Amino acid sequence: MRVLITGGAGFLGSHLCDRFLAEGHHVLAMDNLITGNVRNIAHLAGNPNFQFIRHDITNYIYIKGEVDAVLHFASPASPIDYLKLPIQTLKVGALGTHNALGLALAKGARFLLASTSEIYGDPLEHPQIESYPGNVDPIGPRGVYDEAKRYAEALVMAYHRVHGVDTRIVRIFNTYGPRMRLADGRVVPNFIAQALRGEPLTVYGNGAQTRSFQYVSDLVEGVYRLLLSDFNDPVNIGNPYEMSILEFAQVVNDLTQNQGGIIYKDERIQGDPQTRQPDIGRARKVLNWEPVVNLRDGLSQTIAYFREVL
Ligand code: UDP
Repeated sequence: MRVLITGGAGFLGSHLCDRFLAEGHHVLAMDNLITGNVRNIAHLAGNPNFQFIRHDITNYIYIKGEVDAVLHFASPASPIDYLKLPIQTLKVGALGTHNALGLALAKGARFLLASTSEIYGDPLEHPQIESYPGNVDPIGPRGVYDEAKRYAEALVMAYHRVHGVDTRIVRIFNTYGPRMRLADGRVVPNFIAQALRGEPLTVYGNGAQTRSFQYVSDLVEGVYRLLLSDFNDPVNIGNPYEMSILEFAQVVNDLTQNQGGIIYKDERIQGDPQTRQPDIGRARKVLNWEPVVNLRDGLSQTIAYFREVL
């Protein structure tokens, strides 16, 4: 296949580039580098099956020749990023998704949207199953990301139903691993960077809010299987192993042998979900997929990466 990956220089996009190249496909990575970084794909320079195109996909996307699949991963994705870049976040979800779908339609390509657990908002159902429509405040600070992705899902389904584009939607739950940006503000890089500096970990609120963390290689496997499947409805891909942020801080301090402890900060963003855990029954059934990397192994890999970049 000849595959276009938008956001190809980002955390998830760059790992997908690696996977598709390893499977023998041709990869075009497109990124405007507002949150992505060419360092993530520097090791692919000179690979004849790989090409990087610097482009902002909120403008018309022109690709010469055939395209067999479009994986649409371009978007700011950390709460700090989308608070700083609210209009870009809305534009890439709306205009960027429209352009990427238009390209898929013109090329007769398969299309996969990177959606998110954020479309469930601060959920009133637990765990979150794909049929749960969510609890999102459109005008809250997180609304710019949540609604952009909700609109993107709606647009993908419209292109599927009206134009017959062969589409997929993956709803990605918290994912971590090497190539996350050290300063992207999310809990995993924050805690690891603080721990490696011997500082206290900043737990926002009382730390009772929960998340379920998935290692990046599990996500990549789920996305790869979903693209090759023929399933058009949304599929949650995440690790159901749920823990409080306080417990998570303790694991990070333990693995890094950080003596800095924990400090509590009143920095929760309004609408910060109190609980989050994917129901992965659909992924198990349709893709025969489930996560295989446990938290301590995944975190050890990630800590090793951050040790190098610090
Ligand atoms: N969080 C925290 N300390 C930090 C960064 C984040 O306690 O230094 C909390 C945050 O309030 C949220 C959870 O960790 O409840 C996960 O936040 P993150 O920004 O990683 O992503 P989210 O899952 O909210 O999109």
